[in-house]
Amino acid sequence: CGIIGYIGDRNAAEVILKGLKRLEYRGYDSAGVVIDDGGKLDVRKGAGRIDDLAERLGFLEMNGNRGIGHTRWATHGVPNDINAHPQKDCTGKIVLVHNGIIENFAELKEELLKKGHRFESDTDTEVIAHLIEEELKNSENFEEALRRALKRLKGSFALAIVYADEPDRLYVVRNESPLVLGIGDGEMFAASDVPAFLEYTNKAVFLDDGEYAVITKDSYVVKRIDTGEIVEKPIHEIEWT
Ligand code: GLU
Repeated sequence: CGIIGYIGDRNAAEVILKGLKRLEYRGYDSAGVVIDDGGKLDVRKGAGRIDDLAERLGFLEMNGNRGIGHTRWATHGVPNDINAHPQKDCTGKIVLVHNGIIENFAELKEELLKKGHRFESDTDTEVIAHLIEEELKNSENFEEALRRALKRLKGSFALAIVYADEPDRLYVVRNESPLVLGIGDGEMFAASDVPAFLEYTNKAVFLDDGEYAVITKDSYVVKRIDTGEIVEKPIHEIEWT
């Protein structure tokens, strides 16, 4: 039930593990991370407690400066290693985490199965990765494919997404599930909640429903899912307490 994303110069796994610990209070049954290790998307995940998983799967031995982490509270598919997030598409290039529920996932899954997609998990989440993969075939770029896919989703979704072919950025999305950006100096964060990154920056940009953001280590832009228009967002300075 929590998301943390990082892009910058630090060891992403370290930032993400700390962030996940700070999101533990939200409750969860599984956790996982993806780190971009020089173009290879290293995914490690499983059911259980964060500390145990970190040790068993070697979270802190992962290398890279861009990644995302997730704590899952299972709604679709039992809590197990395969259903833990991140989930990915057939190519393994689109890797994402999700909080919320995709209400129309069964219809979408059936449509994608007919088009030849193969699914690993029982989650509603995995459908999103395959839908983006499918839309990529008819889109000029990843962002367009993402927007097309998002427009087809019904339900609640906070998402963080890495795409292997775009090593300089992360995508995050908010719809009826919280997502906030942390604006650093040469680094950016995204999380379900401010405490996940407050140690590093107190500058926060809160996404509203129906918005997504493209973040690089030194820039961010927030846009509307439906129109693709840029939205100017205020930066909130959170009190350090
Ligand atoms: N519906 C998704 C799942 O069951 C996400 C649950 C969550 O919000 O953690 O995998």
